[in-house]
Amino acid sequence: MPRSIQTVSLPVVVQGTERSLQVFRYGEAGARPKIYIQGALHAGEMPGPLVIHHLTRLLDEMDAAGRIRGEIVLVPFANPIGFAQDLSGTHYGRFDQASRENYNRGFPWIGAEVAALIGDRLTTDATANVPLVRAAAHKVLEHIPARTEFDHLRLALMRMAIDADYCFDLHCAGEAPLYIYCDDDPGEERIAEFAAQLGSEATFIHAYMEDGRPFSSAVGQLWLQVARALDDSGKPVRQPGLSGTVELRGSRDVDDAVSAADALNLLRYMMRRGIVTGDPGPLPEAKSAPMPITACDHGYAPCTGIIVYSVPVGARLRQGQEVCCIVDPGIADFEAARFPVLAGCDGVLFDRAGDRLARAGEQIFRIAAEEPLAHRIGKTALDD
Ligand SMILES: [Zn+2]
Repeated sequence: MPRSIQTVSLPVVVQGTERSLQVFRYGEAGARPKIYIQGALHAGEMPGPLVIHHLTRLLDEMDAAGRIRGEIVLVPFANPIGFAQDLSGTHYGRFDQASRENYNRGFPWIGAEVAALIGDRLTTDATANVPLVRAAAHKVLEHIPARTEFDHLRLALMRMAIDADYCFDLHCAGEAPLYIYCDDDPGEERIAEFAAQLGSEATFIHAYMEDGRPFSSAVGQLWLQVARALDDSGKPVRQPGLSGTVELRGSRDVDDAVSAADALNLLRYMMRRGIVTGDPGPLPEAKSAPMPITACDHGYAPCTGIIVYSVPVGARLRQGQEVCCIVDPGIADFEAARFPVLAGCDGVLFDRAGDRLARAGEQIFRIAAEEPLAHRIGKTALDD
């Protein structure tokens, strides 16, 4: 079956305007395994859509050769609302101007409703429970009320992704190598395999994300939510695949050769997981080991000023080492005008801010530590 292009229209909330999502589908509807990949939920982050662009070329070839076994759903631009937020010559794609919400937050957290709908029909077989959870999740999503256009967008994306075995949300950071957040550890080395295939240089496993509710967690932690709501270990509910957010380097790392290589890695991952037939070749050597999110340390600006980094992305740091200075040129004394920001732990600097104006309290870097950090326990990975 050739690629089909579907237009998913969002309900009209402003008369005379209509927004829609372009969706590329490969394989038979309902075939397994199913993979869902979207880009640019933060609507100005272009590496994801470019990777999907390259991926469609590869998948067209696979399709022509009859090698697509599962179902593949791609949404290159997942956020037409944010895509249009161009204000006075500057694009704002991270926050919804109407609600001021981050576009990757507040997705429906439906586990309790799904558990209630399933009732006592769960079995002692985790595999047999998977379709029960998926069918109930679709039903719950059908009946969630939407008020704003952003609510409708959240629901439209969730409906396409909620029954996927593999769900990946493509983002990018400020200045960074490729790194990954997975939403749950499904075991069987599944995170390590994905991270190695993509060449992830830092790989984290999210905590329970009920407060922030980012997209991939709302999809991938459905299983944890249902298991918590049912609280019955004799009737297991487990993530059957993998869900995660992939940070495709920095926002300016937009390059055909790099994106084509990322797309090829995604295709090879689909081969490993039986979505596409073929030999993926040997698994690349891992560049990072999956770590709990508490091994990710965050650095914050102590005041507003110019960020001047002292070390490059990828630097191996010792606790207490200077990562950057925030410079306030309005302070006449040269030394007093420079506010050093120090590494809070040993580790690798893997993420720096994308611009050089620091606002007081803003997150300006992240460090991948070699072990979980006591001072990060109970803290969210989300700094908006
Ligand atoms: Zn993003």
